[in-house]
Amino acid sequence: MGKVWFVGAGPGAPDLITVRGARLLSEAGAILYTGSLVAEAVLEWAPEGCEIADSKSMDLAQVTAWLQERAQRHETVVRLQTGDPTLYGVLAELARPLDAAGIPVGIVSGVSSAMASAAAAGECLTLPEITQTVIFTRLSERTQMPERESFASLAAHHCTLCIFLSIERIEAVVGHLREAGWAATAQVVVVHKATWPDEELVLRGTLEDIAGRCQEAQVERQALILVSPALGARGRAGSQPSKLYDASFPRRFRPTRASESTRD
Ligand code: SAH
Repeated sequence: MGKVWFVGAGPGAPDLITVRGARLLSEAGAILYTGSLVAEAVLEWAPEGCEIADSKSMDLAQVTAWLQERAQRHETVVRLQTGDPTLYGVLAELARPLDAAGIPVGIVSGVSSAMASAAAAGECLTLPEITQTVIFTRLSERTQMPERESFASLAAHHCTLCIFLSIERIEAVVGHLREAGWAATAQVVVVHKATWPDEELVLRGTLEDIAGRCQEAQVERQALILVSPALGARGRAGSQPSKLYDASFPRRFRPTRASESTRD
């Protein structure tokens, strides 16, 4: 019996899959991917003769049945997931029946679109003294948010928010942020198809104008919204330098000045 691997395909660029993910693809007897979400270019790693299917029109039961059936015939079966497979996917639902059938399952991390979007925009998600916390979240829609995780309560932390699956409702996102006390001039970055060859689009604006900019650019899906007091830090003078490079901050591999001077 084979093993089913949930492999993060990364955000889109085929060379942003991990080395481990690419190796598993190159060894796979069967690969199931979501045509609409996973950049098909990563399939370039698949070996000749590999069975490749698109799960776009399959329901959850059909996807599981497909994986289960292929695991009887192939040593390595890959389910390609967009970004990182542990975020906003259906990994638990898909793995449960495989677990029940005794089919071994493995998970391979991928570069999440949150990280890829920050990189595409040239931004940091954390900044010393300014924000040291990142929240991955979304607006509630069909998927209800647990009450204690209401968007408004998360926005009230004024830390970095990586907002998935919500670009269609950017006006509501802006409304919640304003209610939570974010200034109309607060910076926002929207990244559409981060790292997709020739398709990536980075939109910058403020809470006041970002919805209009998205509309103008016709960005309605596959985009990540970043709001953070850390945005634009590279252009701002006077930000606190990180303690990591503070000469008085002891580090395991770099002696502090004090210990350096007592060393000899
Ligand atoms: N597991 C994925 C997220 C899947 S949910 C990950 O780790 O990235 C799908 C949402 O992810 C989209 O609605 C969008 O908000 C975001 N997304 C996925 N790929 C993206 C990309 N290349 N650029 C920007 N956002 C992306």
